[in-house]
Amino acid sequence: MDTLLSTHNRLPLPLRGLAERQMSLPPSLRLETRRKRGRNLDTRVSARASSGALLELVPEVKKENLDLDLPLYDPSSTKRVVMDLAVVGSGPAGLAVAQQVSKAGLSVCAIDPSPKLIWPNNYGVWVDEFEAMDLLDCLDATWPGAVVCIDDRNKKLLDRPYGRVNRKQLKSKMMQKCVSHGVRFHQAKVVKVIHEESKSVLICNDGVTVEAAVVLDATGFSRSLVQYDKPYNPGYQVAYGILAEVEEHPFDLDKMLFMDWRDSHLASGSELKRRNERIPTFLYAMPFSSTRIFLEETSLVARPGLAMEDIQERMVARLRHLGIKVKSIEEDERCVIPMGGPLPLLPQRVLGIGGTAGMVHPSTGYMVARTLATAPIVANSIVQYLGSARSLTGNELSEAVWKDLWPIERRRQREFFCFGMDILLKLDLQGTRRFFDAFFDLEPYYWHGFLSSRLFLPELVIFGLALFSHASNTSRLEIMAKGTVPLVGMISNLLRDRS
Ligand SMILES: Cc1cc2nc3c(=O)[nH]c(=O)nc-3n(C[C@H](O)[C@H](O)[C@H](O)COP(=O)(O)OP(=O)(O)OC[C@H]3O[C@@H](n4cnc5c(N)ncnc54)[C@H](O)[C@@H]3O)c2cc1C
Repeated sequence: MDTLLSTHNRLPLPLRGLAERQMSLPPSLRLETRRKRGRNLDTRVSARASSGALLELVPEVKKENLDLDLPLYDPSSTKRVVMDLAVVGSGPAGLAVAQQVSKAGLSVCAIDPSPKLIWPNNYGVWVDEFEAMDLLDCLDATWPGAVVCIDDRNKKLLDRPYGRVNRKQLKSKMMQKCVSHGVRFHQAKVVKVIHEESKSVLICNDGVTVEAAVVLDATGFSRSLVQYDKPYNPGYQVAYGILAEVEEHPFDLDKMLFMDWRDSHLASGSELKRRNERIPTFLYAMPFSSTRIFLEETSLVARPGLAMEDIQERMVARLRHLGIKVKSIEEDERCVIPMGGPLPLLPQRVLGIGGTAGMVHPSTGYMVARTLATAPIVANSIVQYLGSARSLTGNELSEAVWKDLWPIERRRQREFFCFGMDILLKLDLQGTRRFFDAFFDLEPYYWHGFLSSRLFLPELVIFGLALFSHASNTSRLEIMAKGTVPLVGMISNLLRDRS
């Protein structure tokens, strides 16, 4: 464990471009996916002891584009217009805002190096979150319930439907709305922004410049344009996932496996078991059929993040123990999600949404549903200030929109979630099991609300007390011992941020 952990340095990386930051990450945590070339997808090989055997089955990367004609931004136009909004990044966050601001009749330019590319991540959400946004047609698989295995003897059934996002459908739907509302697309990377009093000039890596009254950074975890004024010290969720064809698997088809904390796959006394006891990983699985399944070995949060190779090794041991023989891999994903850490400088001229704006849930790593639900707030705010009245411009407009994006209740909520993350960072396997044993015994209103960012500070305090009272005595002692310093930190942050 020590050797593995010592091979990846700490990750205090923000403030500049992703490429630069990526190079400062240890190779095992870099975000780009390394693929084996020329593998035959029909190869029938079983996962064996080493993670190498599993990785042999990973197909060459398949980049699929949407079949769509995009109206392009015309940089050569003689009467160059200042766009109302430039959205940098066409992930879920950027498109959600572009679609809604353009619908209100404002001019929008969306800039992304691959605007038609179908998003690569496998998104999972609670069905009620998508239902509330009328997005049920964007789920391609749902399970009526979920299951959490605390250990070999303790299994919790969660009566809450879960779904996998049909990312092609969601992106097509959003892009079609953007197109029909007149969004112009430019295929490039933004490298710089220069602000003037009432407009900003974006400079792209192809030399094109785009002028806009408002700039929205939606570049995800690369945080290309927003600025941070505090050291960036997030925890990291690291996971390795495969969408695989298997001979068989032991999971019920009507339940997704939300967390499996069992460790019986790790031989007692082994180095792998010791590592897992200190920094545990769990299995997350979405069984689509008896032979097709998405499996993801996940480190919930660690600082520094676990090495990808460590996670893969644990996954291989687990699959072998469960008797899961992988016949082929359709796709794999290497997931590195920064969690918690400071918010961007508030306010600042460039607006942000999604991964770039601290919107990942600091205790879970989830974000998609919350971002899609927040996009209308940001869009309405931009439309209100920039619309017909043009009541605000430049810095004043940005300040007003940031206030709507991160109002005090949301900042307090996030502070509490960061407190949750700080506790999770300190828990070993046994502590983590005790924590989730108590967590999923709470009234659904509380655990649903916590996971879906629906509880605000007063209710979160009740949630915290309820969690404490449900916890075993050992767990209470542990929460007191490990939670006191984070609690004091949270209270002092809450007192400092009162505006
Ligand atoms: C592998 C993985 C799995 C995840 N699974 C889930 C999940 O199951 N559920 C969940 O809720 N959350 C999940 N998340 C967390 C989070 O929801 C996603 O990261 C989500 O994609 C973030 O959305 P975004 O729009 O903020 O950024 P992104 O989706 O990362 O999109 C950013 C876009 O900006 C573009 N870009 C970057 N730099 C520039 C630039 N300089 N100029 C122009 N364009 C630029 C990129 O090309 C990209 O298209 C996952 C994250 C990862 C990494």
